[in-house]
Amino acid sequence: MKAAVCYSSKKFLIDEVPKPEIDKDEILVKVMACGICGSDIKKIFDDNVKKPIVLGHEIAGDVVEIGSGVKDFEVGDRVVVTHHIPCFDCQYCKHKNYSMCKQFKLTNIHPGGFSQYIKVPKENISVGTLKINNNISYEEASFSEPLACCLYSLGKINLLQKDSVVIVGLGTMGLLFNQLIRNKKAIPIGIEIDTNRVDFAKNSGFDLVFNPTKENVTEKIMDITKGVGADIVILTVVNKEILNQCIDYIRDGGGIIIFAGTDNKKGVEININTLYRREISIIGSYSSSPKHLSQALELISDKDINVKNLITHRLPLEEFGKAVELIINRKAYKVIIKPWK
Ligand SMILES: [Zn+2]
Ligand SMILES: [Zn+2]
Repeated sequence: MKAAVCYSSKKFLIDEVPKPEIDKDEILVKVMACGICGSDIKKIFDDNVKKPIVLGHEIAGDVVEIGSGVKDFEVGDRVVVTHHIPCFDCQYCKHKNYSMCKQFKLTNIHPGGFSQYIKVPKENISVGTLKINNNISYEEASFSEPLACCLYSLGKINLLQKDSVVIVGLGTMGLLFNQLIRNKKAIPIGIEIDTNRVDFAKNSGFDLVFNPTKENVTEKIMDITKGVGADIVILTVVNKEILNQCIDYIRDGGGIIIFAGTDNKKGVEININTLYRREISIIGSYSSSPKHLSQALELISDKDINVKNLITHRLPLEEFGKAVELIINRKAYKVIIKPWK
């Protein structure tokens, strides 16, 4: 079978690799759509990630082979498959820090979604493989994983109706957050420095979007919140300036969700006294859980969240390198890789 193998940040090859062989407790899924995630791009450039590697974890496809011990699936089922599964039993899981669970980090599909087939191990079948309703496409279903990450974050805060939530960075994740927050009857406020992205966000129904290179964002947010400040800030992009700027417009007692990593080598300075005196919480949110995956798939199936308009490119495996370039150059929102033409 074919797979997009990443050898280094500059070298991707479409290699012929062995089609995975399944055990009695496993299933084989033919990948029909796999979205490229920002974290895939980070892994490509991260020297700590061992190469060669086949990435891809936003996967939807067809069950094509079933081990003799698998009960709940049939050949022909359309499914979403997630890569990491927590144990639901350890100290981390008891506290709902599912993505910190040791098992979570050990489980994975093989070899990765940017290939024609994946093997789904036993742990991933029981809770991490979900059947897709016929009313949605593979592409739409592949958004379950990124949407689950957003739901996982929002599960960490106490969001009330009419709360103001600032979303910094309006890529795919920022625009998914916008819809989720609107659905909760809270008020999303977007911040984005790229003028094209500001326009795209506004055209896709995001009313309050500001560009900090052109407007005084703190003043705008203070106006909207009648001088109180934003209840929550979600950082889908993080650096020292962004973090310190949000201290200016968050309300006392508010929470900052760190939803993305930053350059590993650079620390981020922040005034601890400000956090202490103003009771500002900083909340890390990494990945998601199977519980959030099924909620996400339901929201997409029920059309409560529109993901279709976020797909800007559909490319075959052969154009994986081009896809990466489009994302790095901010020319794309969601790129879907389709391993079968
Ligand atoms: Zn992802
Ligand atoms: Zn656990």
